[in-house]
Amino acid sequence: MDALSICKIWGLNGRTDPESFKACVPLVTHKDLEPCIQRVADGAFSPILTRKPITTISISSGTTQGKPKFVPFNDELMETTLQIFRTSFAFRNKEFPIENGRALQFIYSSKQIKTKGGLFAGTATSNVFRNSQFRKAMKAMQSECCSPDEVIFGPDFHQSLYCHLLCGLIFHEEIQLVSSTFAYSIVLAFRTFEQVWEELCDDIREGVLRSRITFPSVRSAMAKLLKPNPELADLIEKKCSGLSNWYGLIPELFPNVKYIYGIMTGCMEPYLKKLRHYAADVPLISADYGSSEGWIGANINPSLPPESATYAVLPNIGYFEFIPLKENVEEHMQDNGNVSFLSMEPKPVDLTEVRVGEEYEVIITNFGGLYRYKLGDVVKVMGFHNSTPELKFVCRRNVMLAINIDKSTEQDLQLAVEEAAKLIAKEKLEVIDFSSNVDVSTDPGHYVVFWEISGEVSDEVLTECCNCLDRSFVDGGYVSSRKVDAIGPLELRVVRRGTFQKILDHYLGLGAALSQFKTPRCVGPTNNEVLQILCDNVAKNYFSTAF
Ligand code: AMP
Repeated sequence: MDALSICKIWGLNGRTDPESFKACVPLVTHKDLEPCIQRVADGAFSPILTRKPITTISISSGTTQGKPKFVPFNDELMETTLQIFRTSFAFRNKEFPIENGRALQFIYSSKQIKTKGGLFAGTATSNVFRNSQFRKAMKAMQSECCSPDEVIFGPDFHQSLYCHLLCGLIFHEEIQLVSSTFAYSIVLAFRTFEQVWEELCDDIREGVLRSRITFPSVRSAMAKLLKPNPELADLIEKKCSGLSNWYGLIPELFPNVKYIYGIMTGCMEPYLKKLRHYAADVPLISADYGSSEGWIGANINPSLPPESATYAVLPNIGYFEFIPLKENVEEHMQDNGNVSFLSMEPKPVDLTEVRVGEEYEVIITNFGGLYRYKLGDVVKVMGFHNSTPELKFVCRRNVMLAINIDKSTEQDLQLAVEEAAKLIAKEKLEVIDFSSNVDVSTDPGHYVVFWEISGEVSDEVLTECCNCLDRSFVDGGYVSSRKVDAIGPLELRVVRRGTFQKILDHYLGLGAALSQFKTPRCVGPTNNEVLQILCDNVAKNYFSTAF
């Protein structure tokens, strides 16, 4: 690991042993590193975070924090990305072998911008998709994308999505797997299919693209693939007409598909129900665990259902530490040169010191110039593969509803929504997407949960859903505060159809890429624009009477 300037700043003086490293280098967050990263982006010539200059910047989706972040990207991170992909593929292919064919990958690139210092900046996934090594690796894994580059790198995601679907249908017999970075994009793709399938069939029948595809590069790339094929159009029409509520759509369209692949854990779990509906018996396999900042672990148990998926940490792609969440904060005296100061720092443990059943926050030191970087993710150790821990993703640490002494996490919200959604599932309806915030404009403040639902539900059922949500938040601080009215009744706000699409469009407008999009589950006060979209689209609201 190359830590030239860090060595100087923290007085490592050439020492590379873990004890000196931990004693000298403090834990940092993105905010601490921002000035350094900004200097890199502005074209600083001297080595700042790594000895070899950083030539590319990744822009994190920022959907969890509301604001995109810059992080360094370099060849070493690209190499670890491929290592993770190859590792999980080796395990996956033993249990679910794929044959020579193609992959229907719903992948999209963000716009690539140039920073002030002339560095290319794009989302981490775009940086990976643009790299020539990525294509080679996909070919070696028999997972080449069936869509041409012009579609993946197309400037408009609506048009790219339509073309991905079209390519999938053209190569329908060859498709071995359906994938995306996060499962959300697969669900969005097939929801879109439900709307546009007749148009897709017309295009295939006549061999001519609809006028909705306007970008010349995309049109000409697609024209090379599209030939009049009335038999295929008839076949797809027949298959679609034969389905009941689109159950089993994916295997019906792609008879040779072996599995569906994408990140399905954490904030992707709420989309699993819909994905299973489209997939019928086709296995769902969760993809690996990583972030724009760097990779962490590979899914080496692909036959486990996504709800139980774990990620084995690849110990050679970084130096990983874990802050135990059970332990209390300890006081440390730090001697930083001639200045002594007292800081409150939780003491992290090393990779092999973690305990099964315990929860931790992940800290990364990696080849991308991050040193003791607090990722903000909470994981639980489920076991060990040889000596490396297998982690279950729990939630983001900072996504939290809190008013009083309560601390409800993203996972608490997810479970509450899952429970309440059962009440509308009885009417064959579903929660398409959801979010939340705390409303402290009332006294006492209260939780607000926003739901977009797939159809009309009676006031009576929605009132029940609202009560169920309120009862399902299990955090002790929440329950006791509700009992004494220190937190007001939970409010369920039902938003109009298409509201969450507007939120997606808002993020894409900011330069995010669909490939990395995650619906913000808790909209904080700094995320005004998203809160505005939600509030402007409220159709009905209900207050709980559960307490
Ligand atoms: P970003 O870099 O903005 O695309 O997002 C990275 C974040 O996505 C991570 O810090 C996690 O919170 C989440 N994430 C990535 N991989 C997984 C996974 N396999 N399971 C659950 N969450 C994940």
